[in-house]
Amino acid sequence: MPNITYNKSTKIGRWLRDRPASLERAYKFTEWIFDRIKPLFEKIGYKKVEPWIRPTEEWAKGVVFDCRMCGQCVLHYTGMTCPMTCPKNLRNGPCGGVRENGHCEVVPEMPCVWVEAYKRSTRMPVYGHEMKHLQPPVNRQLEGRSAWITLLSEEDRPVTAGWVHVSEINIQA
Ligand code: SF4
Repeated sequence: MPNITYNKSTKIGRWLRDRPASLERAYKFTEWIFDRIKPLFEKIGYKKVEPWIRPTEEWAKGVVFDCRMCGQCVLHYTGMTCPMTCPKNLRNGPCGGVRENGHCEVVPEMPCVWVEAYKRSTRMPVYGHEMKHLQPPVNRQLEGRSAWITLLSEEDRPVTAGWVHVSEINIQA
């Protein structure tokens, strides 16, 4: 059973998550910065850079998103709502147990992560549509790593053997 720590996030984090359009602008800006800094990181070596970056990432994303450091961030696909805070760690939408009031079946006092993610995605003009993208299974070997580094180094790209995106499946009539 994964770690269930509902209410670990701060009040400011919850306040920010309910402003997903501002968060996606911040995400885009961070992406812009990292694109520019990438050649320098490559020169120094990602292994050397990661210990400098990881604590900042863990702190900042912990405060804002209640990040669990999965090392393979999908926030802009999921309404700027961390899917790893779902007690079942579901990364492709809710399970069948969402309660009538939109709360979690495992932690009844907790709003379903995916109900919140969907609502927020509808208020995200840039990345909101990405909610419909199918996510590959999370690579548990990246747990604890800096997702900024695994993104830049493309270590977050490989998918589990046998997993193919639905768009690549050739369905014969
Ligand atoms: S790195 Fe993983 S655990 Fe952290 S916010 Fe992103 S998806 Fe959630």
